[in-house]
Amino acid sequence: MSSTTPVVITRSDPKRLEIEWDDGHKTSFTAAELRGLCPCAVCVNELSGVRVHDARSVPADLEQRDTRMVGHYALTMTFSDGHHTGIFTFPFLRKHDPQGV
Ligand SMILES: [Zn+2]
Repeated sequence: MSSTTPVVITRSDPKRLEIEWDDGHKTSFTAAELRGLCPCAVCVNELSGVRVHDARSVPADLEQRDTRMVGHYALTMTFSDGHHTGIFTFPFLRKHDPQGV
């Protein structure tokens, strides 16, 4: 069973977020990948669970700003397209690791 507790969160690059987990696994997302995964109510229909935001519309050079913790369980940030309502929980980020879990 994989761990979902981050040890190190690196957000110095505005186009990349890196997380090192307590089991030693490392996850890296581009800001564009995170934007495309955004699970908020604007991007995903709350009733149907169907994604209404088109991930293909995200420019590859999208940047994240003001990346910060939400309590002890999640991250939130403002993207350079102005979107800022996404809350990315650590289990969600681990589950959607682009390099595989
Ligand atoms: Zn969203």
